[in-house]
Amino acid sequence: MAILDIKTFPSEILKQKANPIKYVDKEIRKLAENMSETMYDKKGVGLAAPQVGNLLRLITYDIGEGLCILINPEIIGCEGRIKAEEGCLSIPGIRVEVPRYEIIRVTGINLKGERVSFETKDLLARVIQHEIDHLNGNLILDKVSRLKRELIIRKLKKNYKSTSK
Ligand code: ZN
Repeated sequence: MAILDIKTFPSEILKQKANPIKYVDKEIRKLAENMSETMYDKKGVGLAAPQVGNLLRLITYDIGEGLCILINPEIIGCEGRIKAEEGCLSIPGIRVEVPRYEIIRVTGINLKGERVSFETKDLLARVIQHEIDHLNGNLILDKVSRLKRELIIRKLKKNYKSTSK
């Protein structure tokens, strides 16, 4: 197992659309294992493959109810709308309010290559929507107003300067 480097904003790969996984092979299982280890190491509740430099549709998450790994996840149903603060391992030190669906129905493939389908709500639904956004090249910064986005980017640049001195 290995802890992977997390790509941070404004890395180009975070803006790209990830590709579907055709076969769940040894390489995919290894990536999922390394991503899980990285997610726990960084104390994140979710991680998407593009965040570790892999343009594949694979996400890992754990909100304290056990590790889940989902391949080619898709939201096939949704209900309600709710706003809450979110952070992102790729945008360290920033939290913004993001509107999400309250309840979602998700399908995908597990590590055994089996199709799974389930309904989830609240925090878990939020985390899955956040990670699927990563697979489509979207960040929480794309969910806020332009003015707020500019303020955050200015703050990130300042943080970057102070840590690279
Ligand atoms: Zn994120």
